[in-house]
Amino acid sequence: MKTIIAKEFAQQPQFAPVKDILQACVHCGFCTATCPTYLMLGDERDSPRGRIYMMKAMFEGEAVTHETRDHLDRCLTCRSCETTCPSGVEYGHLVDLGRVVVEQKVPRSKAQRLVRWSLRQVLPYRARFGPLLKLGQTFRPLLPIVLKQHLPKPVKRLTQPHASHERVMLSLPGCAQARAAPNTDIAAAQVLNKLGIQLNVLHQTGCCGAVDHHLNAHAAALIKARHNIDLVWPELQAGAEAIVVTASGCGATLQDYGHMLRDDPDYAAKAQQVSAAAKDIVEILEKEDLSSIKISKNAGKVAVHCPCTQQHAMQLPSRVKHLLQQLGVDTASTKNDHLCCGSAGTYALLQPELSHQLRTNKLHDLTLDQPDQIVTANIGCQLHLGGSASVPVKHWLELLAED
Ligand code: SF4
Ligand code: SF4
Repeated sequence: MKTIIAKEFAQQPQFAPVKDILQACVHCGFCTATCPTYLMLGDERDSPRGRIYMMKAMFEGEAVTHETRDHLDRCLTCRSCETTCPSGVEYGHLVDLGRVVVEQKVPRSKAQRLVRWSLRQVLPYRARFGPLLKLGQTFRPLLPIVLKQHLPKPVKRLTQPHASHERVMLSLPGCAQARAAPNTDIAAAQVLNKLGIQLNVLHQTGCCGAVDHHLNAHAAALIKARHNIDLVWPELQAGAEAIVVTASGCGATLQDYGHMLRDDPDYAAKAQQVSAAAKDIVEILEKEDLSSIKISKNAGKVAVHCPCTQQHAMQLPSRVKHLLQQLGVDTASTKNDHLCCGSAGTYALLQPELSHQLRTNKLHDLTLDQPDQIVTANIGCQLHLGGSASVPVKHWLELLAED
């Protein structure tokens, strides 16, 4: 469809991709059938097609209102619409840019800005999030329900392997997962160790930038991306085979570094290579001989939740489920696997009603076959589902780990 980008946006390089993305959309509406917010709310403006119409009008220079911002805020950025779209519309990149504009044109209240700023000051930093998590675990009964439900219980740590191997891969400890679910990366190290692969943890690296990016602080996200690239780059040059991703939310962002830094002459090429090196651990394990890997005896029947970032952003739908089946896990039947659980980064905290409804629906669909536990591949989903599930929720790698 013909699109004439208003001068104020056409002159800004960051908005250069907008026209092509908008023109790729033929407004067929196929994506509405798999959009969680449209399915819940039934309002075209809460569908991908409706949001694309609104963003087209906005980028063509029409007035932006609170309504526009509310409909974009309600989008989970789950990218289910991208998987469905037959025209390859890059909705995720478009909505990122649309949010930059609404943020500028329709400023938020002081209270909203404070909440968003606070989330950005805490969640991406292990040294801040860790002590606050411990405090929250100590005073759990006093916390508001929305926080209480996302607070994991303290866990007994697995044993970290220390053997060295010729084959080396890299682990970026990230932010929340390292403190809230430390056993995930230890389990990854154990499994890779059995396969003769050493997992080097790059402790100086920090948050991948996803939290800032989703809260529209793109400049801050780019600073974090550059910092991580500076630390990862020499290791890749020295022969590390891959960056092992155990949280698909971070994996989706690492794989987007090439796009995020495409206009940075100092980082564009490195960012492309770092993105290419970032692999979800399921992709790595699929290529290895797994005969030495044993499944925990107490696994029982397992429901597998595939996070949106793993299936729609990293394009690895059902891969964990298939791998677990190959390893002999009894997997439970589930339905609506393509729909978001409502976690979606900070969405659960910023849109609690919709997030709560999505979680209720997801837990219903995951427990139809009465599983003994639920496994997932992203820390956000793990904490979100774990806050209300009737069975334990853990990372799938923990099924492969040893105490
Ligand atoms: S985003 Fe894709 S599926 Fe949705 S209306 Fe546009 S072309 Fe159709
Ligand atoms: S990203 Fe998810 S919530 Fe947003 S429009 Fe696409 S399908 Fe709907």
